[in-house]
Amino acid sequence: MATINVSRNYTMREKFYLPAIFQGLRITLKRFIQGFVFHKKYTIMYPEEKREYSQRFRGMHFISLDENNIENCTACLLCETVCPSECIHIVADERDPAQNPYGVRKEKRPLSFDIDAIRCCFCGFCEESCPKDAIKLSRNYELSVLSRGEAIYNLDHLKRKVIGRG
Ligand code: SF4
Ligand code: SF4
Repeated sequence: MATINVSRNYTMREKFYLPAIFQGLRITLKRFIQGFVFHKKYTIMYPEEKREYSQRFRGMHFISLDENNIENCTACLLCETVCPSECIHIVADERDPAQNPYGVRKEKRPLSFDIDAIRCCFCGFCEESCPKDAIKLSRNYELSVLSRGEAIYNLDHLKRKVIGRG
């Protein structure tokens, strides 16, 4: 593979570095004085306090349910196909015709539905592409886990109601 060298012409001011260092120190000093003298706070006591996020904020997904608490997903695989991060993995199955009150409207179901939240870039394409309004992005951003495996959310988890929407 060829290597591309990208050169950049620095100005005299950039080469000197000191103006940038003093600019950083000036901001630090300003914040220190504002906090120390005027008691202005830039941090919050999370998790007791939480910041307001934009209405357009996209957090962890959930799968919406119908009036019978059955997932709206019909395992069409559109979301899996459109996902740029390839982090959705669905195994489709046929709904038992004897216990299917929906007929052809819901003849397929997801046998498993996994989303790898570490790979996900929360672009929202899956939500936009879903013809059943089944997969949705919530406003839940509290996704800390202790291992990578825990960041793979399965169907049971995705069907649970989540903060703010669901
Ligand atoms: S939000 Fe984007 S990256 Fe995440 S699962 Fe949906 S389509 Fe994939
Ligand atoms: S969530 Fe929507 S797009 Fe994804 S498989 Fe289910 S019905 Fe299709």
